[in-house]
Amino acid sequence: MRVEFLGGVRTVTGSATLLEKGSLKWLVDCGMFQGGKELEEKNWHLQPYQAKHLSFILLTHAHIDHSGLIPKLVQEGFRGKVICTKATRDLCEVMLEDSGHIQEMEAEWQNRKGKRAGKREAIPLYTMNDAEKSLRCFQTVNYGERFQLADGIKVRFQDAGHILGSAIIEIWIEEGGEKKKLIFSGDLGNSDQPIIRDPAWVEEGDVLWLESTYGNRFHKSREETVQELLKIVQEAIAHEAKVVIPAFAVERTQDIIYTLGQFIRQGSIPSIPIYIDSPLAISATEIFKRNPDCFDQETQDLLSGGENPLEIPGILYTRTIEESKAINGDSRPGVIVSASGMCDSGRIKHHLKHHLWRKESHIVIIGYQAEGTIGRRIVDGAKTVRLFGEEIAVNAHIHTLGGFSAHADQKGLLDWLSHFSSPQLEVFVNHGEEQVSTELSQLIRERFHFKSTVPQWREKKVLFGEGEMEVAEEGVGEELISEESFSTLFNHLDRTYKRLRRKLKREKKRGDDLYDPRWLKQLEEINKKLEELEEEL
Ligand SMILES: [Zn+2]
Ligand SMILES: [Zn+2]
Repeated sequence: MRVEFLGGVRTVTGSATLLEKGSLKWLVDCGMFQGGKELEEKNWHLQPYQAKHLSFILLTHAHIDHSGLIPKLVQEGFRGKVICTKATRDLCEVMLEDSGHIQEMEAEWQNRKGKRAGKREAIPLYTMNDAEKSLRCFQTVNYGERFQLADGIKVRFQDAGHILGSAIIEIWIEEGGEKKKLIFSGDLGNSDQPIIRDPAWVEEGDVLWLESTYGNRFHKSREETVQELLKIVQEAIAHEAKVVIPAFAVERTQDIIYTLGQFIRQGSIPSIPIYIDSPLAISATEIFKRNPDCFDQETQDLLSGGENPLEIPGILYTRTIEESKAINGDSRPGVIVSASGMCDSGRIKHHLKHHLWRKESHIVIIGYQAEGTIGRRIVDGAKTVRLFGEEIAVNAHIHTLGGFSAHADQKGLLDWLSHFSSPQLEVFVNHGEEQVSTELSQLIRERFHFKSTVPQWREKKVLFGEGEMEVAEEGVGEELISEESFSTLFNHLDRTYKRLRRKLKREKKRGDDLYDPRWLKQLEEINKKLEELEEEL
């Protein structure tokens, strides 16, 4: 059983892990790299993903940093199945097409610029059409059902409490007489967020991939955060100003709708215009309404009491560009929720251009802002930001509300981990910035005494059973030698040695004293190398 870390290691985006059992290869997640040119360049070089030879992609959830390269892989010859929950499939339908659309727009924009500079024609990473085609590979499974993926491989999806349809993936593998369980946490949510169910606990396992987005931070409680938002909205109403909220189209937007609805239901604010200015968020909200089986008890109760928490008075869904532009002409106090959540693309950029320089406006950051994004610069206190080729002053009130995060904080992650009762558990900390993952990994070693490491990009490991270690490819070799790769190699050597001894014993039993002379040569070679190593150490 072998593994290669293809993305989401020492960074939050591009989640992808290649697993190999014998000749069977599959991925867990296939996310797009986002945040800066250097990182995004990786989206174009997907040879290590071995698209044509993959049988499956197990998909934890619909976010683009987990699903965004699926259409690209289909374009490169992937003909296997993408396995996920039904809500994830529904969300991917709109999100991947939207992503294809963004890629097409991006290439078009570059071509307009490039033509004037005499540059070669830019092609999109993939198109809306590629995205649509990739949906045919999707196959859905129910939460909590253990199914056979292939010979010796069983899989179960459990609630991850992160976004609608999100899952923790458990994989049971039998190989060479060994039985092991792998767990992918996916992105883990908080246990007090509205609408969807809390993350499920996992108690047993051998190898865990654990996300660490907020592995070194602590969110304020949800209640505190909700009160903060209420204060901001009340202040904006008093000063006839607007509150602009950059929000991921899925989950954060619905969470904000739910919370604003609560304010109105409680009578804490009057009914004001609440613009949901993102076609993707509007489609996502419809998908939420179509998947009530993913809702938690509280939301189910509201629904059965005849109240839909996603339908509130004053809400205005703006799909067309004209409707979106008209928002700027509305001088009433109100709230604008728009995407993208990291302020890098989409309509939010127009709203920021319109409001960042106004002293009375409020910008409320509720989601994770990756390094290199406009959102991150705003959070980090930039005096100006560049939008549509113009420097815009940051004069508005900037608020960061961590409690709306779709990700568990350090305490949440450790609490979740504390339910494991398997002392042999080996943890790979991923989906976090390098420093953050490293800190969390150390904490895990200290607190739980689990073996915990932060893998390198393109690092390969033999987890157990069969699997020859491949020689690292040129250019990536040097950074791969860590203490862990060393001990993996050592264990592998130990197993190979035992296997050879068994083979020799069998041969001897057959009464055949004549061994292949090549064996002897190989053994001599190995002995020599071991002696050299011993000397060196
Ligand atoms: Zn996510
Ligand atoms: Zn993610």
